[in-house]
Amino acid sequence: MKSGRCKFCESDALLVKAHIYPKSVYDYIRRGDKYPSKLYSSDSRIHPKRTQIGVYDQTILCQTCEDGFKKYDDYGAALLLKDVDPATLIPNANTPVAYSVAKYDYTRLKLFFLGVLWRASASRHEVFQKCDLGPHEHAVRAMIRDGDPGGPEDFGVALRRYIDDLGQYSTTSPYRTKICGVNFTVLHMAGYKAFIKTDRRLLPVEFAPCVLAPGRPLYVLTHDIRLDKDFAFMRKVVMSRTHRK
Ligand SMILES: [Zn+2]
Repeated sequence: MKSGRCKFCESDALLVKAHIYPKSVYDYIRRGDKYPSKLYSSDSRIHPKRTQIGVYDQTILCQTCEDGFKKYDDYGAALLLKDVDPATLIPNANTPVAYSVAKYDYTRLKLFFLGVLWRASASRHEVFQKCDLGPHEHAVRAMIRDGDPGGPEDFGVALRRYIDDLGQYSTTSPYRTKICGVNFTVLHMAGYKAFIKTDRRLLPVEFAPCVLAPGRPLYVLTHDIRLDKDFAFMRKVVMSRTHRK
């Protein structure tokens, strides 16, 4: 362990190997040891690296703060990293467009996503370089510290999941995007995309039915990765590394 300043509690302490995407995400996408995970960079000068235990950063958290994130990571993994119950699929013209989870803990799930978002922003690891909370960092950190998930408009989270055989394990770096003029940061891990509003403006009306909200079921939109621009991008990155002379 190295000593340094914990970016969460701001005390000087020994810093631990903190995962940004929880370790359970890497265990899930490896499916045991069947598919060893490799990290591909969009920078062609960087060779793919094996990441048996996933990407971690030893410059952000002390042990106490790491333990504080663990309870949310464990809840998120237990709720999300399992197969969709076919009985919960919501079809439109015979194609599933979403599914629902009748009961879940809004506070713990919201803080799970905010916890990953904050760590991705705090990390200087190349995988997370496009995630920077900037002026929102303080507010997100306070919500996690106080166990306060806020309401649907406070860093509101909407989920989409790839349910096809290729997409269900896909994981890429977080990135920022604008939807209807509103800023979002997108976390893409273990087949899920969490669209998190990183903006003081109100959620676009399209998000209202599916954003995490207390007192109602969780709705997850479903999608096929072959229809998504991410698939073309990932394919390009992997092919350019595996077919080099
Ligand atoms: Zn700390």
